[in-house]
Amino acid sequence: MAVLQDLQDYLEYMEVVGFENLVLDESPFAALLAEYRQAAAPSPRPSAVPPPARHAAPPPPLPAAERKQAKSEKPARPKAAANLMSIMNMVQGPLLEKEDNRAKAAAIQGEDKIDCLRKTYQTFHQCQACALGTTRTHFVFGEGNPDADLLFIGEGPGFDEDRTGRPFVGKAGQLLDRIIEAMGYRRDKVFIANIVKCRPPNNRKPLPDEVAACSPILEKQIEYVNPKVIVALGATPFSWLKGANMSITRHRGQFFNWRDYMVMPTFHPAYILRNPVAKRDVWEDMQKVMAKLK
Ligand code: SF4
Repeated sequence: MAVLQDLQDYLEYMEVVGFENLVLDESPFAALLAEYRQAAAPSPRPSAVPPPARHAAPPPPLPAAERKQAKSEKPARPKAAANLMSIMNMVQGPLLEKEDNRAKAAAIQGEDKIDCLRKTYQTFHQCQACALGTTRTHFVFGEGNPDADLLFIGEGPGFDEDRTGRPFVGKAGQLLDRIIEAMGYRRDKVFIANIVKCRPPNNRKPLPDEVAACSPILEKQIEYVNPKVIVALGATPFSWLKGANMSITRHRGQFFNWRDYMVMPTFHPAYILRNPVAKRDVWEDMQKVMAKLK
């Protein structure tokens, strides 16, 4: 059954990107999973490997007549479940085709870019793929120029961003605006996004499984915008791009490549607000970025 195979692929994908102890019996996908398992139950394979213990046990198969009746009485699927197949289709692409991303992005121009970004937003804006989806007020997709040469990546939405649905609009965002203007740009000429699109409670750092679940959306955004330079604001985006926990203090100001993109790691504006002396370091880093964009 193709849909069941899709669901299995999705579970495998979630494990690959770092989900541990996935328990679907309490997730928004539970109803969908139970339905698919029920549909698949009449033709069990005796030699099949039993499912891992952490997955919910499938319900016993119902006789055909009862199954038909149960299906007709089943309540409407939760919205997140309705998005499941779309999420799978969107996130599998970049993971399977990393090498081709830059060439594909170069071929996506103008209205197509806007269309791609809009479709990405539409696909994910009701996402419930991690726990942050249950506590957010707004999904904060990101904003800016789809043709931007410069793309800033932050950590995640804070209080103001969660309230408004826009990235970097609080005090740290206002400081980022001033940095962007000092570089000779305007906010609407660059692209601004975060690693996770929903606010972590109490502004805590996003957990590894939340970063793993959400980062495919950012990968899509980078692919479509196709910037010349990416600025990683703080340790969370820097570590994600490097694939390991990295010290921003030790490595800021040094370009590195992520795939084919030049990346400049620097301090997050919120850090500058707490440590104003870091402003000079950030300005040095941004001057290096400006030199690359000439
Ligand atoms: S943080 Fe990302 S993965 Fe988690 S629910 Fe929000 S959009 Fe989905």
